Amino acid sequence: MRIVVKIGTSTLAHPSGHLNIRRVESLCRVISDIKNAGHEIILVSSGAIGMGVGKLGLREKPKDMPSKQAAAAVGQCELMYIYDKLFGEYHHTVAQLLITGDDTANETRHQNFINTLNRLLELGALPILNENDTVATDEIVIGDNDTLAAIVAESVRAGLLILLSDIDGLYTADPHTDPDAKLLHRVTKIDGAIRSLAGVSVTNQGTGGMVTKLRAAEICLRCGCDMVIANGNNPANLYDILDGKPVGTTFTEKCL
Ligand code: GLU
Repeated sequence: MRIVVKIGTSTLAHPSGHLNIRRVESLCRVISDIKNAGHEIILVSSGAIGMGVGKLGLREKPKDMPSKQAAAAVGQCELMYIYDKLFGEYHHTVAQLLITGDDTANETRHQNFINTLNRLLELGALPILNENDTVATDEIVIGDNDTLAAIVAESVRAGLLILLSDIDGLYTADPHTDPDAKLLHRVTKIDGAIRSLAGVSVTNQGTGGMVTKLRAAEICLRCGCDMVIANGNNPANLYDILDGKPVGTTFTEKCL
């Protein structure tokens, strides 16, 4: 199966902005194993700005655009260095693709991007994507990696998109404050009732939150790609998802 896995900043980094080494090592090991089992994997990784903040020793995430873009430029190098090192241990070759909204809106550029991705997969490489934060401005920004991951999944006709976040999935109420909050295991349609739950399942460090995850689910359901929101704190969740075990929230139109 062709699978897109999106890794959020909160999965990669401690709240301090520094790398969560244990988590990332285990994530790269599990993803390498899944790739060894014969699946095609594309990663969409956040964390460039977060890593840049840590590496530059800034006290907090900057608010102005040039500083955010500078942090992303530093952090993106750090991210790819880590991925190259860890996936290299399992003999997987990583490739970096940085794209903007323009690259998906313009037909020629979009096709070039799809061709490159497909060729990388044919060559057995592991493509790792992020938005090109250093040049993305208001007009061409995709804005969040949940949407980017769904656009990628649609573009390469992936069978599954997995969004790894700091929450178990979509809840009926805020699980931090409401003991009766229930995790929804399966959603087949994004309607008003589901959208109204976006505000209650709050995520912490990342850019998107549940609103962008539901937007990603809409894109996926439209093109027949299943999508799962799962907690990235346990990378072994990825095995369970592929084994069809109930992990997180699955968005699918397929019958059980
Ligand atoms: N592109 C941003 C980064 O790498 C993250 C965007 C997101 O978290 O959705 O820092």
